[in-house]
Amino acid sequence: MPRLTVDGIDVTVPDGASLLDAARAAGVDVPTACHDPRLTPTGACRLCVVSVAGSPTPVASCTTPARDGAVVTTSSPELESLRSTLRSMLGQPPRTGDDGIDDSHPLIHVDLSRCISCWRCVRICEEVQGQLVWRLTGRGADTRIVTDSPDGLGTSSCVSCGACVDTCPTGALQDRSVLDRGEPEAWTRTTCPYCGVGCELLVGVREGEIVQVRPALDAPVNRGHACVKGRYGFEFTHAADRLTAPLVREDGALREVTWDDAIERVAAGFRAVLDEHGPGSVAVLASARATNEDSYLTQKLARVVLGTNNVDSCARVCHAPSAAALGAVFGTGAATSSFDDVERAATILVCGANPTENHPVVGARIKQAAMRGANLVVIDPRRTELAALADVHLRPRPGTNIALLDAIAHVVIEEGLVDEAFVGERVDGYEAFRADVADWSPERAAAVCGVDPELIRAAARLVATARPAISFHGLGVTEHEQGTDGVVALANLALLTGNVGRPGSGVNPLRGQNNVQGSAHMGCEPSKLTGYQPIEAAKERFAAVWGAPVPELPGRDAMQVLDDAAAGRLRALWVIGWDLALTQPDAKATAQALEGLDLLVVSDLFLNETARRHATIVLPAASAFEKDGTFMNGERRVQRVRAAVAPPAGARTDSAILAAIAARMGHGHQFSHRDASEVWDEIRQVWPAGAGMSYERLEAPGGLQWPCPDLDHPGTALLHTTTFTVGPRATLRMPEVRPLQEETTAELPFVLVTGRDLYKFNAGTMTGRSGTAVLLDTDLLELSPTDSRALGIGSGDQVVVTSRYGEATLAAEVTDRVPPGVVFSTFTDPVVNINDVTTPHRDATTNTPAYKVTAVSLHRA
Ligand code: SF4
Repeated sequence: MPRLTVDGIDVTVPDGASLLDAARAAGVDVPTACHDPRLTPTGACRLCVVSVAGSPTPVASCTTPARDGAVVTTSSPELESLRSTLRSMLGQPPRTGDDGIDDSHPLIHVDLSRCISCWRCVRICEEVQGQLVWRLTGRGADTRIVTDSPDGLGTSSCVSCGACVDTCPTGALQDRSVLDRGEPEAWTRTTCPYCGVGCELLVGVREGEIVQVRPALDAPVNRGHACVKGRYGFEFTHAADRLTAPLVREDGALREVTWDDAIERVAAGFRAVLDEHGPGSVAVLASARATNEDSYLTQKLARVVLGTNNVDSCARVCHAPSAAALGAVFGTGAATSSFDDVERAATILVCGANPTENHPVVGARIKQAAMRGANLVVIDPRRTELAALADVHLRPRPGTNIALLDAIAHVVIEEGLVDEAFVGERVDGYEAFRADVADWSPERAAAVCGVDPELIRAAARLVATARPAISFHGLGVTEHEQGTDGVVALANLALLTGNVGRPGSGVNPLRGQNNVQGSAHMGCEPSKLTGYQPIEAAKERFAAVWGAPVPELPGRDAMQVLDDAAAGRLRALWVIGWDLALTQPDAKATAQALEGLDLLVVSDLFLNETARRHATIVLPAASAFEKDGTFMNGERRVQRVRAAVAPPAGARTDSAILAAIAARMGHGHQFSHRDASEVWDEIRQVWPAGAGMSYERLEAPGGLQWPCPDLDHPGTALLHTTTFTVGPRATLRMPEVRPLQEETTAELPFVLVTGRDLYKFNAGTMTGRSGTAVLLDTDLLELSPTDSRALGIGSGDQVVVTSRYGEATLAAEVTDRVPPGVVFSTFTDPVVNINDVTTPHRDATTNTPAYKVTAVSLHRA
């Protein structure tokens, strides 16, 4: 670690630090223009010049390494004169024929008359986002910046991450929200309310309203980056249709009532059903958008107040198979590694996930790693952005992951690529697995999944030999009839190749919603208590803290709850922040189930479709920008959520609503926490692996990753380093290839796959009411050019999609992203209601809906 002096101040800096880093460490301000800590220093503007004793000329401090014993001077008449000259040279060369204004982008205003040619926008677009929208044109003094579209930013390949705005030092690139509503007066650091990446954001507020969001520079997850949703998807907070008073349905119509009235009706409604039908007749479904503290209180209310284990979260419809499979194989049902392992991996396997759209900041990190030379293998029927960059892209028929992954394991064994030392030391069941997987040659798998056997071999060789190899998977693995088996197959590959428990390796589910990991982990899971502890093993600990027993009757998951409602066994349901009507598969069956209830309570920010069509009572809730607490991201990281603005008058936090209902039902003493930190302290009491994560410690950037059992524990970035949670050895399990229940036929020859995209988040409740909505505001049906020609359906044509369960009509988008025979749609638009079409089939282990395979026919409307 070099030790040097800067303006007479002794300072020691890490190896590799620059003189600029040393000056800043010494508290000395050195002017810069082209410098941004997120970017590779270039020394282009040279404003950061300093003198170094013994050096004949001043040097750019940002590109000069700090050397031991250096004596640095940052200010002198000579240096100031030089900087003055350099400043006069900054500036975009004058343009003829225009004023430098580009108003073509709906979220970003461009005024190149303010450009000083620092080129930070060009570099950040390349080095952080990897998009290359901004580029340089011209030579020498005539060099200037342009976008990759001659018609401006709005028609460029911009993905609206806002990184260029964030780095621009002059306001040449500016958020429209700031120009329209003014600069923020105050900033609050919090965690993004969208996806499970968990970016830390700075929320800028002016006159009580959010006017800008920027990424936190020192956040370990996002390192000063964000995506379009995190950066520009905040305006829903102040949308005109926020709910501000409770509603009750009378004579078919919803009318406003007071909070007191609403709470009494909820309490009385649950009491009546419990008295008549017992605790098996009530359920609570929790929100993956809510905080850990909200989720903990949700399951506590279900168990302590309602006396039922019928509590679940929307992890059921996404990554329950990941939790089940990773729990069974390794002992912990969560990501084995961290996002930082992306940069440590030699090979990255992305299976059934589209991170550059659905987890964009991690997607950008994977893209950057691939651009720097990491091997990239993508398994996806669609040609996603990462698939286009991949060394090997395998495009299986939807629903055939198991045959493909078993064949990859077959090749690893057949070609002698097994990490024998790792298997010998830490893996059981190898011989039996080898015998079972011997049947799954690439040729046999190819007949099932449609992938060229040589591509299967190429993928196997990369994963097994270019190590460390890490895998990331998404709902393209889990939302299948064999979703859990798919994750087991990925775990098998990691075990065979020694790619678990080592830096740069592991098996990692990319979690969809911001707190989907947390809501299930807090105990919104019928068979698990907080910390994912099995009820039987942990019930005494909880009973002692709660002063009430954990119910004995086994709980029902979200899908079973709806089955029970349809069968008349479930009579009262409370749904928190989850639009069942729009997002559950087989929407008609969902509607019938909800219609039969005696009591349906919906808490949400808005009158979502479930509330509008079916609710008995609607409770207005506060958003993540309006409350304190914590979220848990997809790498087991717990980070603080902090209120940036007050909720609208009349809306309440989920925790406050839960406490009010509990109190009305005679359990106020068990829900008397003064604030979120007191709830969290109770969570730490019942969850030993989280006991070390005090709010005080979570104040630090990045919070902490569990397990973190005591206050001196640093948290755990990498699981299973020397032993597995299940024990010293993990066991290979052969996932059998089973025929699909949802079969295509001559009448239903296409496979519909549903999912999210970059601009639309799930049901669109938040993105549909934010600046992001202008970028893409409805669902489109992706259709291959081959099928387009055969059916005579072009882009923009309305298409009727018909399945065994219903039909939906939406516009076509002809694209080679999907292969022939496969169509894809998002599920945001209530007018389209694509879930009228989707299948009722489920993962055999966890009941997660098989959203990724519905047999359909297509007709031009
Ligand atoms: Fe938010 Fe996810 Fe985007 Fe990060 S990547 S800003 S967490 S939506």
